[in-house]
Amino acid sequence: MSLKTTLVSTACMLGGFHLAKQLTAGTPKVLMYHRFSDGEEHRKLSVAAFSRQIEILKRGYNVLTISAICEAMRQGQPIPKHTIAITVDDGYDDFYRFAYPVLKHYELPATIYVTTDFIDRKLWLWPDKVAYLVNHTRLNRMTLSMEGLGDRVLPLTTTTERHAAWLALNDYCVSINHQARLDFIDQLARDLAVTVTPEPADEYAPMSWEALCEVAANGIEIGAHSRTHPVLSTLDRDSLRAEIQGSKTRIEQMLLQPINAFCYPNGQREDYNDLVKQVVIESGFSTATAAFHDKAIWEDYHEIRRYSVWNDLIHFRKVINGVETLSDRLA
Ligand SMILES: [Zn+2]
Repeated sequence: MSLKTTLVSTACMLGGFHLAKQLTAGTPKVLMYHRFSDGEEHRKLSVAAFSRQIEILKRGYNVLTISAICEAMRQGQPIPKHTIAITVDDGYDDFYRFAYPVLKHYELPATIYVTTDFIDRKLWLWPDKVAYLVNHTRLNRMTLSMEGLGDRVLPLTTTTERHAAWLALNDYCVSINHQARLDFIDQLARDLAVTVTPEPADEYAPMSWEALCEVAANGIEIGAHSRTHPVLSTLDRDSLRAEIQGSKTRIEQMLLQPINAFCYPNGQREDYNDLVKQVVIESGFSTATAAFHDKAIWEDYHEIRRYSVWNDLIHFRKVINGVETLSDRLA
Protein backbone atom coordinates (compact mmCIF):
# COMPACT_ATOMS: atom_id res chain seq x y z
CA MET A 1 0.00 0.00 0.00
CA SER A 2 1.43 3.45 -0.91
CA LEU A 3 1.95 6.12 1.73
CA LYS A 4 -0.81 8.20 0.15
CA THR A 5 -3.31 5.31 0.26
CA THR A 6 -2.37 4.60 3.87
CA LEU A 7 -2.84 8.25 4.82
CA VAL A 8 -6.21 8.43 3.05
CA SER A 9 -7.49 5.20 4.65
CA THR A 10 -6.24 6.32 8.09
CA ALA A 11 -7.97 9.70 7.66
CA CYS A 12 -11.22 7.95 6.62
CA MET A 13 -10.94 5.61 9.59
CA LEU A 14 -10.34 8.48 12.03
CA GLY A 15 -13.22 10.45 10.48
CA GLY A 16 -15.43 7.38 10.80
CA PHE A 17 -14.40 6.91 14.43
CA HIS A 18 -15.15 10.56 15.20
CA LEU A 19 -18.58 10.34 13.57
CA ALA A 20 -19.44 7.05 15.31
CA LYS A 21 -18.27 8.51 18.62
CA GLN A 22 -20.65 11.45 18.25
CA LEU A 23 -23.56 9.30 17.05
CA THR A 24 -23.25 6.90 20.01
CA ALA A 25 -22.13 9.47 22.63
CA GLY A 26 -25.15 8.74 24.86
CA THR A 27 -24.71 4.96 24.87
CA PRO A 28 -22.23 3.67 27.46
CA LYS A 29 -20.09 0.79 26.19
CA VAL A 30 -19.03 -2.06 28.44
CA LEU A 31 -15.60 -3.60 27.81
CA MET A 32 -14.86 -7.20 28.77
CA TYR A 33 -11.36 -8.37 29.73
CA HIS A 34 -10.11 -11.72 31.04
CA ARG A 35 -6.38 -12.26 31.46
CA PHE A 36 -3.26 -10.08 31.66
CA SER A 37 0.48 -10.66 31.45
CA ASP A 38 3.76 -8.87 31.94
CA GLY A 39 4.99 -9.44 28.37
CA GLU A 40 3.47 -10.92 25.23
CA GLU A 41 1.62 -14.18 26.02
CA HIS A 42 -0.96 -16.17 24.10
CA ARG A 43 -4.57 -15.24 25.02
CA LYS A 44 -3.43 -12.60 27.54
CA LEU A 45 -3.27 -8.82 27.27
CA SER A 46 0.16 -7.36 28.05
CA VAL A 47 0.54 -4.55 30.59
CA ALA A 48 1.93 -2.35 27.78
CA ALA A 49 -1.16 -2.87 25.59
CA PHE A 50 -3.53 -2.43 28.53
CA SER A 51 -1.74 0.79 29.61
CA ARG A 52 -2.10 2.18 26.09
CA GLN A 53 -5.85 1.44 26.12
CA ILE A 54 -6.33 2.94 29.57
CA GLU A 55 -4.40 6.09 28.57
CA ILE A 56 -6.78 6.54 25.61
CA LEU A 57 -9.81 6.13 27.90
CA LYS A 58 -8.37 8.55 30.45
CA ARG A 59 -7.90 11.24 27.79
CA GLY A 60 -11.21 11.19 25.94
CA TYR A 61 -13.85 9.15 27.79
CA ASN A 62 -15.68 8.89 31.11
CA VAL A 63 -15.01 5.62 32.88
CA LEU A 64 -17.67 4.52 35.40
CA THR A 65 -18.52 1.20 37.01
CA ILE A 66 -21.43 -0.87 35.72
CA SER A 67 -23.34 -0.22 38.96
CA ALA A 68 -22.80 3.55 38.77
CA ILE A 69 -24.14 3.61 35.19
CA CYS A 70 -27.23 1.52 36.03
CA GLU A 71 -27.94 3.48 39.20
CA ALA A 72 -27.87 6.75 37.24
CA MET A 73 -30.06 5.26 34.47
CA ARG A 74 -32.59 3.95 37.00
CA GLN A 75 -32.84 7.34 38.68
CA GLY A 76 -33.21 9.09 35.33
CA GLN A 77 -30.00 11.06 35.85
CA PRO A 78 -28.00 12.09 32.78
CA ILE A 79 -25.09 9.80 31.90
CA PRO A 80 -21.94 11.67 30.83
CA LYS A 81 -21.23 11.48 27.10
CA HIS A 82 -18.70 8.87 25.94
CA THR A 83 -19.06 6.68 29.02
CA ILE A 84 -17.15 3.39 29.20
CA ALA A 85 -17.32 0.62 31.83
CA ILE A 86 -14.36 -1.73 32.28
CA THR A 87 -15.16 -5.28 33.40
CA VAL A 88 -12.82 -8.19 34.10
CA ASP A 89 -14.05 -11.76 34.50
CA ASP A 90 -13.16 -14.67 36.77
CA GLY A 91 -10.80 -13.26 39.45
CA TYR A 92 -7.34 -14.30 38.23
CA ASP A 93 -4.34 -13.05 40.17
CA ASP A 94 -2.94 -11.50 36.97
CA PHE A 95 -5.60 -8.75 37.29
CA TYR A 96 -4.09 -7.78 40.64
CA ARG A 97 -0.48 -8.08 39.45
CA PHE A 98 -0.71 -6.40 36.05
CA ALA A 99 -4.00 -4.55 35.39
CA TYR A 100 -4.87 -3.11 38.79
CA PRO A 101 -1.63 -1.06 39.13
CA VAL A 102 -2.43 0.59 35.77
CA LEU A 103 -6.02 1.41 36.81
CA LYS A 104 -4.75 2.73 40.13
CA HIS A 105 -2.14 4.91 38.42
CA TYR A 106 -4.76 6.49 36.15
CA GLU A 107 -7.36 6.53 38.95
CA LEU A 108 -9.96 4.70 36.85
CA PRO A 109 -12.60 2.33 38.24
CA ALA A 110 -13.53 -1.13 36.96
CA THR A 111 -15.80 -4.01 37.94
CA ILE A 112 -14.26 -7.45 38.47
CA TYR A 113 -16.48 -10.54 38.61
CA VAL A 114 -15.11 -13.31 40.80
CA THR A 115 -15.87 -17.04 40.96
CA THR A 116 -15.88 -17.60 44.71
CA ASP A 117 -14.85 -21.28 45.01
CA PHE A 118 -11.95 -20.35 42.71
CA ILE A 119 -10.94 -17.49 45.05
CA ASP A 120 -11.28 -19.96 47.94
CA ARG A 121 -8.81 -22.16 46.01
CA LYS A 122 -11.24 -25.07 46.10
CA LEU A 123 -11.13 -25.55 42.34
CA TRP A 124 -9.54 -24.76 39.02
CA LEU A 125 -11.65 -23.01 36.39
CA TRP A 126 -12.34 -26.06 34.26
CA PRO A 127 -11.06 -24.73 30.88
CA ASP A 128 -7.72 -24.07 32.65
CA LYS A 129 -7.57 -27.64 33.91
CA VAL A 130 -8.22 -28.92 30.38
CA ALA A 131 -5.46 -26.61 29.06
CA TYR A 132 -3.07 -27.83 31.75
CA LEU A 133 -3.80 -31.47 30.89
CA VAL A 134 -3.22 -31.12 27.14
CA ASN A 135 -0.11 -28.99 27.72
CA HIS A 136 1.47 -31.36 30.25
CA THR A 137 0.73 -34.80 28.83
CA ARG A 138 3.58 -36.85 27.35
CA LEU A 139 1.18 -38.50 24.90
CA ASN A 140 1.30 -37.26 21.32
CA ARG A 141 -2.34 -37.95 20.53
CA MET A 142 -5.66 -38.73 22.24
CA THR A 143 -9.11 -39.91 21.24
CA LEU A 144 -12.07 -37.78 22.25
CA SER A 145 -15.09 -40.09 22.62
CA MET A 146 -18.21 -37.95 22.41
CA GLU A 147 -21.45 -39.47 23.61
CA GLY A 148 -23.65 -40.01 20.53
CA LEU A 149 -21.18 -38.19 18.24
CA GLY A 150 -18.50 -40.84 17.80
CA ASP A 151 -14.73 -40.61 18.25
CA ARG A 152 -12.28 -37.94 17.18
CA VAL A 153 -8.50 -38.33 17.22
CA LEU A 154 -6.72 -35.21 18.50
CA PRO A 155 -2.97 -34.92 17.81
CA LEU A 156 -0.98 -33.34 20.66
CA THR A 157 2.51 -32.82 19.29
CA THR A 158 2.77 -29.11 18.44
CA THR A 159 1.54 -26.04 20.31
CA THR A 160 -1.02 -25.46 17.54
CA GLU A 161 -2.31 -29.04 17.84
CA ARG A 162 -2.56 -28.79 21.62
CA HIS A 163 -4.48 -25.53 21.29
CA ALA A 164 -6.85 -27.09 18.73
CA ALA A 165 -7.34 -30.07 21.07
CA TRP A 166 -8.10 -27.67 23.92
CA LEU A 167 -10.75 -25.93 21.79
CA ALA A 168 -12.35 -29.26 20.79
CA LEU A 169 -12.36 -30.47 24.41
CA ASN A 170 -13.84 -27.15 25.58
CA ASP A 171 -16.62 -27.34 22.99
CA TYR A 172 -17.43 -30.86 24.14
CA CYS A 173 -17.31 -29.89 27.83
CA VAL A 174 -19.70 -26.98 27.28
CA SER A 175 -22.16 -29.35 25.57
CA ILE A 176 -22.53 -31.76 28.53
CA ASN A 177 -23.97 -31.20 31.99
CA HIS A 178 -22.01 -30.00 35.00
CA GLN A 179 -21.38 -33.35 36.73
CA ALA A 180 -20.68 -35.13 33.43
CA ARG A 181 -18.10 -32.41 32.66
CA LEU A 182 -16.33 -32.84 36.01
CA ASP A 183 -16.28 -36.64 35.54
CA PHE A 184 -15.05 -36.25 31.95
CA ILE A 185 -12.15 -33.98 33.03
CA ASP A 186 -11.16 -36.41 35.84
CA GLN A 187 -11.11 -39.23 33.30
CA LEU A 188 -9.16 -37.04 30.86
CA ALA A 189 -6.45 -36.53 33.52
CA ARG A 190 -6.18 -40.33 33.93
CA ASP A 191 -6.17 -40.91 30.15
CA LEU A 192 -3.48 -38.28 29.57
CA ALA A 193 -1.54 -39.52 32.64
CA VAL A 194 -1.20 -36.05 34.16
CA THR A 195 -1.38 -35.47 37.91
CA VAL A 196 -3.24 -32.32 38.92
CA THR A 197 -3.16 -30.72 42.34
CA PRO A 198 -6.49 -29.72 43.95
CA GLU A 199 -5.37 -26.05 43.83
CA PRO A 200 -4.83 -24.38 40.45
CA ALA A 201 -1.25 -24.24 39.12
CA ASP A 202 0.48 -20.84 39.45
CA GLU A 203 -0.25 -19.72 35.88
CA TYR A 204 -4.00 -20.15 36.60
CA ALA A 205 -4.00 -18.82 40.17
CA PRO A 206 -6.85 -16.72 41.61
CA MET A 207 -6.56 -13.46 43.54
CA SER A 208 -6.48 -13.79 47.31
CA TRP A 209 -9.23 -12.35 49.51
CA GLU A 210 -6.62 -9.89 50.87
CA ALA A 211 -5.96 -8.62 47.35
CA LEU A 212 -9.71 -8.35 46.71
CA CYS A 213 -10.12 -6.29 49.90
CA GLU A 214 -7.31 -4.00 48.78
CA VAL A 215 -8.68 -3.39 45.28
CA ALA A 216 -12.22 -2.96 46.65
CA ALA A 217 -10.91 -0.17 48.89
CA ASN A 218 -9.31 1.51 45.85
CA GLY A 219 -12.09 2.07 43.34
CA ILE A 220 -12.63 -1.44 42.02
CA GLU A 221 -16.19 -2.77 42.26
CA ILE A 222 -16.36 -6.48 43.10
CA GLY A 223 -19.13 -8.48 41.42
CA ALA A 224 -20.09 -12.16 41.57
CA HIS A 225 -19.58 -14.76 38.85
CA SER A 226 -21.09 -17.85 40.58
CA ARG A 227 -19.32 -20.25 42.94
CA THR A 228 -17.99 -22.81 40.45
CA HIS A 229 -18.47 -21.25 36.98
CA PRO A 230 -21.05 -23.77 35.68
CA VAL A 231 -23.28 -23.37 32.62
CA LEU A 232 -26.19 -21.97 34.65
CA SER A 233 -28.87 -22.85 32.07
CA THR A 234 -28.30 -26.55 32.84
CA LEU A 235 -29.04 -26.23 36.59
CA ASP A 236 -32.25 -26.57 38.61
CA ARG A 237 -33.53 -23.82 40.92
CA ASP A 238 -31.83 -25.14 44.09
CA SER A 239 -28.46 -25.43 42.38
CA LEU A 240 -28.93 -21.98 40.85
CA ARG A 241 -29.55 -20.48 44.30
CA ALA A 242 -26.45 -22.20 45.65
CA GLU A 243 -24.33 -20.87 42.77
CA ILE A 244 -25.78 -17.35 42.47
CA GLN A 245 -26.92 -16.37 45.97
CA GLY A 246 -24.03 -18.44 47.37
CA SER A 247 -21.38 -16.41 45.52
CA LYS A 248 -22.95 -13.13 46.66
CA THR A 249 -23.10 -14.25 50.30
CA ARG A 250 -19.49 -15.44 50.24
CA ILE A 251 -18.10 -12.15 48.88
CA GLU A 252 -20.22 -10.08 51.26
CA GLN A 253 -19.00 -12.18 54.19
CA MET A 254 -15.35 -11.63 53.19
CA LEU A 255 -15.48 -7.99 52.04
CA LEU A 256 -18.17 -6.72 54.43
CA GLN A 257 -19.92 -4.72 51.73
CA PRO A 258 -23.05 -5.27 49.61
CA ILE A 259 -22.45 -6.93 46.23
CA ASN A 260 -24.81 -5.80 43.46
CA ALA A 261 -23.30 -6.92 40.16
CA PHE A 262 -23.48 -10.41 38.64
CA CYS A 263 -21.95 -11.82 35.47
CA TYR A 264 -23.20 -15.00 33.76
CA PRO A 265 -20.44 -17.65 33.44
CA ASN A 266 -19.57 -18.15 29.73
CA GLY A 267 -22.24 -15.53 29.11
CA GLN A 268 -23.54 -16.57 25.69
CA ARG A 269 -27.31 -16.60 25.05
CA GLU A 270 -27.55 -20.34 25.62
CA ASP A 271 -25.69 -20.12 28.97
CA TYR A 272 -28.58 -18.48 30.86
CA ASN A 273 -32.37 -18.44 30.62
CA ASP A 274 -35.41 -16.85 32.30
CA LEU A 275 -35.10 -19.04 35.41
CA VAL A 276 -31.42 -18.11 35.82
CA LYS A 277 -32.26 -14.43 35.45
CA GLN A 278 -35.11 -14.76 37.96
CA VAL A 279 -32.76 -16.28 40.56
CA VAL A 280 -30.22 -13.50 39.91
CA ILE A 281 -32.94 -10.90 40.59
CA GLU A 282 -34.30 -12.75 43.65
CA SER A 283 -30.76 -12.95 45.04
CA GLY A 284 -30.64 -9.15 45.08
CA PHE A 285 -28.35 -8.34 42.18
CA SER A 286 -29.22 -5.03 40.51
CA THR A 287 -27.26 -5.77 37.32
CA ALA A 288 -26.05 -8.79 35.33
CA THR A 289 -23.80 -8.88 32.26
CA ALA A 290 -23.62 -11.19 29.25
CA ALA A 291 -20.56 -11.90 27.09
CA PHE A 292 -21.90 -10.98 23.65
CA HIS A 293 -23.27 -7.82 22.06
CA ASP A 294 -26.21 -6.75 19.91
CA LYS A 295 -28.37 -3.64 19.78
CA ALA A 296 -30.20 -4.35 23.07
CA ILE A 297 -27.23 -3.18 25.16
CA TRP A 298 -29.11 -1.51 28.03
CA GLU A 299 -32.66 -2.79 27.43
CA ASP A 300 -32.52 -5.10 30.43
CA TYR A 301 -30.23 -4.37 33.41
CA HIS A 302 -29.99 -8.12 34.03
CA GLU A 303 -28.73 -8.84 30.51
CA ILE A 304 -26.30 -6.02 29.75
CA ARG A 305 -24.27 -6.59 26.60
CA ARG A 306 -20.46 -6.36 26.54
CA TYR A 307 -17.67 -6.03 23.97
CA SER A 308 -14.67 -8.29 24.26
CA VAL A 309 -11.43 -6.35 23.77
CA TRP A 310 -7.90 -7.64 23.32
CA ASN A 311 -4.50 -6.78 21.96
CA ASP A 312 -5.83 -5.09 18.79
CA LEU A 313 -5.84 -1.30 19.08
CA ILE A 314 -7.92 -0.71 15.94
CA HIS A 315 -10.63 -3.06 17.22
CA PHE A 316 -10.40 -1.36 20.64
CA ARG A 317 -10.94 2.04 19.00
CA LYS A 318 -13.90 0.67 17.04
CA VAL A 319 -15.50 -0.48 20.29
CA ILE A 320 -14.93 2.63 22.40
CA ASN A 321 -15.96 4.96 19.58
CA GLY A 322 -19.19 3.05 18.91
CA VAL A 323 -18.43 1.60 15.46
CA GLU A 324 -19.50 -1.80 16.82
CA THR A 325 -22.54 -0.23 18.50
CA LEU A 326 -23.63 1.38 15.21
CA SER A 327 -23.19 -1.81 13.22
CA ASP A 328 -25.29 -3.69 15.82
CA ARG A 329 -28.00 -1.02 15.46
CA LEU A 330 -27.99 -1.44 11.69
CA ALA A 331 -27.84 -5.26 11.75
ZN1 LIG B 1 -15.92 -16.51 33.42
